[in-house]
Amino acid sequence: TPLSRIRNFSIVAHIDHGKSTLADRLIQATGALSEREMAGKEQVLDNMELEKERGITIKAQTVRLDYKAKDGETYVLNLMDTPGHVDFAYEVSRSLAACEGSLLVVDASQGVEAQTLANVYQAIDAGHEIVPVLNKIDLPAAEPERVKQQIEDVIGLDTSDAVEISAKTGLNIEGVLEAIVARLPAPEGDAAAPTKALLVDSWYDPYLGVIILVRIKDGHLRRGQRIRMMSTGTVHTIDQVGVFRPKMQSVESLGPGEMGYITAAIKTVADTNVGDTITDDRTPAAEPLAGFKPSIPVVWCGLYPVDADDFEKLRDSLSKLRLNDASFHYEPETSAALGFGFRCGFLGLLHLEIIQERLSREFDLDLIATAPSVVYKLHMNDGSVQDMHNPADMPDVVRIAHIEEPWIKATIFVPDDYLGNILALCTERRGRQADLTYVGSRAMAVYRLPLNEVVFDFYDRLKSVSRGYASFDYNMDGYEESDLVKISILVNGDPVDALSFMAHRSQAEKRGRQICERLKELIPKQLFKIAIQAAIGSRVIARETIGALSKDVTAKCYGGDISRKRKLLEKQKEGKKRMRQFGKVEIPQSAFIAALKMD
Ligand code: GDP
Ligand code: MG
Repeated sequence: TPLSRIRNFSIVAHIDHGKSTLADRLIQATGALSEREMAGKEQVLDNMELEKERGITIKAQTVRLDYKAKDGETYVLNLMDTPGHVDFAYEVSRSLAACEGSLLVVDASQGVEAQTLANVYQAIDAGHEIVPVLNKIDLPAAEPERVKQQIEDVIGLDTSDAVEISAKTGLNIEGVLEAIVARLPAPEGDAAAPTKALLVDSWYDPYLGVIILVRIKDGHLRRGQRIRMMSTGTVHTIDQVGVFRPKMQSVESLGPGEMGYITAAIKTVADTNVGDTITDDRTPAAEPLAGFKPSIPVVWCGLYPVDADDFEKLRDSLSKLRLNDASFHYEPETSAALGFGFRCGFLGLLHLEIIQERLSREFDLDLIATAPSVVYKLHMNDGSVQDMHNPADMPDVVRIAHIEEPWIKATIFVPDDYLGNILALCTERRGRQADLTYVGSRAMAVYRLPLNEVVFDFYDRLKSVSRGYASFDYNMDGYEESDLVKISILVNGDPVDALSFMAHRSQAEKRGRQICERLKELIPKQLFKIAIQAAIGSRVIARETIGALSKDVTAKCYGGDISRKRKLLEKQKEGKKRMRQFGKVEIPQSAFIAALKMD
């Protein structure tokens, strides 16, 4: 395909504004899937089970469409669907680097939201041409004129040619396709130059092994070609070249401007680095392409198998997940209470939850996650500075001169009615207001907050105090010295390293008390009394006691009904599997995160 008839584009939007629905319509309108194949399948591109359930897009997906435009020419349109949530910004930046343009989808009944801004700024940074698309104009509450004005005021984009659509009913989908062809630039590239292809993404397929998503800049990738990964120098032979329509379809080769996949019998996940440049082994390019910025995890937690025999399986699963998600980091770690496991780094708490759920579903692993922690900087008396990813590793306080914690700059959009609640929440979390402005009837509050106060449940709280109307986005904003203490949790006198956490001194007592109360609810009664304590160093700041249990669980089954009795015992066994022994005390796995949520 000549470059002039290729368009590579992303769809960027705030969550729920209709990206995935629009992607489905585009696939349908260009006939990439038949009516029968589309039937009953919402959101063809959200193919991860978890994505369907949560209604969010996690992995960026790509699909190649053929579109016969009004000018009589047939164009190849490569669409990349992108995730909208703040934790997946890294996926967004990768998709953007593979495209020349973006559709900015804004829900005409809602208007600009926090991630609308965050994503569109990323697209602008990537040098994209942007076509504003106002979606959901079928809704009675849609106000396309007001929202256009908002896009002009807040983002500064010209909206005189904005496309008004309903992705749900299919209204004006052709308008979107024509805008893509007419207004987005064609890619540039040189077919005769040495091959340069951007490694956009890679994942593990149980049948095909490692699959690599590529965007060709110069030259070609062909079946049988010897390729070289420029960052590592490893060489492979291409088995298969293909495109997503959206089903995988083999082609002979991919040329400049094109997007597609290759397989090359790659076994070691370490060989595929997202952002790497793939070149020809015999006539290599001199310089690699500008890759992506490496992602920096901001939240860490320990993941341990409930069953110690699953350690190798966990290692293997993590390496597969890492291949599928370059923003996820992990390294081995041991815990006195939990044995062998891994310390894992995430871009945020949602990211953490998603990875945890994927591990249990896709890899069938029973895991314990320790309390999430941000990365603290410890300034030691000897002048050295240490990064601390895990509060359990904190050295003796007498050796520490001072501690710094990471801060974020958060942008929150919220309807006026809920502004008071949001400001109260931010203040309670040690936030400092940086700016407060109005966009129509919505307030835009900019706050600086310690990340530590945000990782546990800030997002949930934000949603609940605004009845779901507030939207939130953040950037890292440096480190600051702070009066932080480590709080240890003791169960019957033994510290549980996996439950220790850092808090600001002013909140230590309150948090300690809360957690003891929580644990009292979360740890089932056992045959003896259990003391739960929170302590700073050797000073106990809170205590709760769980009374002893005396009854046999099967006692209430009156002997008679054997099958019911067996069921109860099995259920109890199942429950056991999800518990962890600490000394004599069993703690259910769910307690570890639940205990640390605040209210
Ligand atoms: P995404 O998070 O941006 O991918 O959004 P989705 O495509 O998953 O859409 C979010 C919700 O909005 C879904 O319930 C869709 O059915 C609905 N939706 C999407 N487009 C429209 C539209 O044009 N009109 C209406 N009424 N609902 C829509
Ligand atoms: Mg989606």
